[in-house]
Amino acid sequence: MITKDIIIIGTGFAGMGMAMKLRESGREDFTILEKAHDVGGTWRDNTYPGCECDIPSHMYSFSYELNTEWSKSFSGQQEIWAYMRKVADDQGIRPYIDFGVEVTGATWDEDRQRWTVNTASGETYECRVLVAGVGGLHIPNIPEITGADTFAGPIFHSARWDHSVDLTGKKVVVIGTGASAIQFVPIVAEQVSQLTVFQRTPPWVLPKKDKPTAQWRKTVFEKVPGAHRAYRNALYWTLESRALGFNGHLNFLPIAERIVKGHLKKTVPDAELRAKLTPDYRLGCKRVLQSNTYYPTFLRDNVELNTDGTATIVSDGVIDGHGVKHEADVIIYGTGFHVIDAFDYLDIKGRDGLDLAAQFREHGVETYMGMMINGFPNLAFMLGPNTALGHNSVVFMIEQQTKFIIKLIDEMDARGVVAAEPTLDAQTAFNIEIQRLVEKGIWTQGGCTSWYLDSHGKNRTIWPKFTFQYWWETRKINAPDFAWSSPQTSGEGRAA
Ligand code: NAP
Repeated sequence: MITKDIIIIGTGFAGMGMAMKLRESGREDFTILEKAHDVGGTWRDNTYPGCECDIPSHMYSFSYELNTEWSKSFSGQQEIWAYMRKVADDQGIRPYIDFGVEVTGATWDEDRQRWTVNTASGETYECRVLVAGVGGLHIPNIPEITGADTFAGPIFHSARWDHSVDLTGKKVVVIGTGASAIQFVPIVAEQVSQLTVFQRTPPWVLPKKDKPTAQWRKTVFEKVPGAHRAYRNALYWTLESRALGFNGHLNFLPIAERIVKGHLKKTVPDAELRAKLTPDYRLGCKRVLQSNTYYPTFLRDNVELNTDGTATIVSDGVIDGHGVKHEADVIIYGTGFHVIDAFDYLDIKGRDGLDLAAQFREHGVETYMGMMINGFPNLAFMLGPNTALGHNSVVFMIEQQTKFIIKLIDEMDARGVVAAEPTLDAQTAFNIEIQRLVEKGIWTQGGCTSWYLDSHGKNRTIWPKFTFQYWWETRKINAPDFAWSSPQTSGEGRAA
């Protein structure tokens, strides 16, 4: 058993940010458990061709680790991953990471008021505070299509790209047309002899205003005090204004929809093809995508868009819903991730043996501030339920969460308590307010289904307010919102 004061799971932006801020606050007694052998989270795992961020890099980065060298507006996976590795080195957090350690579950020990963290190797860790920086987009969603096990060729998911497979001259089927697929489909199309893209729902794809960063701009950021920060602030407010459309404050979505339709009309002259690519739900209901190369890909002679559904997979292809076979040497799933049900994959037992996955299934995925859960003391999720964004950088949310968690630990120390958990009343009030707002937003009103929604149609994913409101709401610990356990009470007589 390895004992630490704080254990962090994962080394994506969340886990790294938490570690850096803990060190800054003078706390060194922590370990980060990372299943892989390098830092980076989603930006280490997603290596598919064309993988890049759809939030500008000068905003999709730590506010305290600005990078003047971003090569273009929306950097690619390799550049973002290199940035994260450099930050890990510069900030000296690698010595705190146990690499190759996969967390399988955690159990709250009520008597000792500590978490026991189990790992795949059988090694156990013990800590006072457990911070899960695992994110919501890491468990690939593999569709259950009859016959998939009979396919003779390679078959893989976009987040587990098999780089040993040479696609040159091959017949390839892609299933899914989401954020990942629209990035790799144009590149795959250039390599293969035939590409069939199975689309279930067309996405809204805006033109991407991407351009290389001019050298003069880098020099200004480097040499002119405050220039880089001012640019980032301007980006923040530009992105933040998009929330006005999504949360229903201002109805400028028809303008964005007209831009996409105009872009489609200009690039896809064939009316039948254009109709297939045109969404029948409101822009913003699903994540809004950006690409200049996706729509033109369907003009290529070797690319076919299929909207008839995937009925069966056979050894050498995919049979569509009309019984037509589409030959394939390789099948690629661009089918996204288990998001809300990601908790089903976690074995977390809280106070009195409460099972987190079962609690979420029975009572809905409800947390306090998207981070903490009644019944699960001293446990914080980063980028947990209802703190994902469609309009701005999640790194902003992560930074508010790191500050909040450190303030909570400081408050526990100041009060001399061993455990803290949100009260059920505070958690319920938070969720009533969130649900009131998401129900008014485009994610619920837009006429689509998406991974933002749970099986009851409730949005358990998106933060429905401005991100500065999240900053405001998490800027201090509201003591009455918590039950604080002193060492003597050991779970009994928790003080609210
Ligand atoms: P996604 O956006 O959820 O897209 C999944 C696609 O697969 C959708 O087109 C979906 O169709 C389809 N699909 C799912 N199950 C299917 C089935 N059984 N049969 C046929 N089609 C099926 O997933 P993703 O592209 O991996 O992206 C996930 C998230 O990752 C994004 O929303 C975004 O937050 C993040 N991401 C971000 C970036 C970035 O630039 N920052 C890039 C990539 C990914 P339906 O629409 O009909 O469900």
